[in-house]
Amino acid sequence: MNAPDLSRSRPPVFARIRDDVQGMHAYAVQDSAGMVKLDAMENPYSLSPELQAELGRRLGAVAVNRYPGARIEDLKRALAHYIDLPKGQALMLGNGSDELISLVAMACDLPGASILAPAPGFVMYAMSAQLQGLAFHSVDLTPDFQLDEAAMLAAIREHKPAITYLAYPNNPTGTLWDEATMKNIIAVAGAQGGLVVIDEAYQPFAAKTWLDRMRAEPGQHGHVLLMRTLSKFGLAGVRLGYMVGPAALLAEFDKVRPPYNVSVLNAECALFALEHAEVFAAQAREIKAQRAMLVDALRALSFTVWDSEANMILVRVPTLAGGAGAPQVAARVFAGLKARKILVKNVSAMHPLLAGCLRLTVGTPQENAQMLAALRESL
Ligand SMILES: *Cc1c(COP(=O)(O)O)cnc(C)c1O
Repeated sequence: MNAPDLSRSRPPVFARIRDDVQGMHAYAVQDSAGMVKLDAMENPYSLSPELQAELGRRLGAVAVNRYPGARIEDLKRALAHYIDLPKGQALMLGNGSDELISLVAMACDLPGASILAPAPGFVMYAMSAQLQGLAFHSVDLTPDFQLDEAAMLAAIREHKPAITYLAYPNNPTGTLWDEATMKNIIAVAGAQGGLVVIDEAYQPFAAKTWLDRMRAEPGQHGHVLLMRTLSKFGLAGVRLGYMVGPAALLAEFDKVRPPYNVSVLNAECALFALEHAEVFAAQAREIKAQRAMLVDALRALSFTVWDSEANMILVRVPTLAGGAGAPQVAARVFAGLKARKILVKNVSAMHPLLAGCLRLTVGTPQENAQMLAALRESL
């Protein structure tokens, strides 16, 4: 896409800013004031008054006059314990996984380097490539949102990407990939000297984690990094992501990390949450139970619903033969929900495979009931 020619209307200093940046749109956050917010895979539960008070005391005592130091190491140790970090692996922290995704692209920015990921997928993989000046190759999923193994392997052999991303489960489809397919992709990417990054942002809601495979077969995973985040777990506002991989490999990525990328407040909040991990685990159980309820209810309303291993559900709106097309119906249902103060994500235009699709974040039982009622009225 060509950037618009802005040179005549703006002061000369703008000519110093990359054309592709000037042609971009900033990441759009939907206005959600007064809405039931089911658009961004946030955990719907806020902290109890008791935990709020306890966290407030903890944060008040943090040495905000000092650069982050020993507490960061405490957090890394706590996370290593929490995930039972496999032997030989190390862990680094990011200001959300988004920062880690940028750092991975930065570290791999050699001439001709590229990033490859299935589509539809998480937008930051393509964004990190664009901003770092790397090529981005996407490989379409099958129409039922599984990996197209033959197409993935062919694209990896053709493009020899520096980085292959596999979100496990995937956003926006909520899918866990077939294990044999994953293994083949990891092997073929490794055979051409590429890195594979497995992004487990939705791990709290998934039946499986690839960390178990990395633990069981370290020999097959020397070129594999695994990312997680506390965002979907329940701390989206805190900004804390982490990445795990073979110690020597991870150390190279840690060199491009800004020295104080995680604040003392982020770190203290994350430590606090890990000390109360059972509270968040109970919330994840409730969200998974609500997910099952929603899947049934949405199918009963004639939506096409894909099984989800995340805290969101991808649906395709029902259409009547001879009626409006799926994208039109999706737009109408989205607007109907919004008019009823329910905010979801209309992903219909994001990728041709998503035509007519909405992505619904699982909320509290009450929010989910409100959403279902609003959906019935909007159809
Ligand atoms: C939400 C999300 C992230 C980003 O998480 P942050 O830690 O909040 O930056 C990364 N990957 C996927 C697939 C996501 O959906």
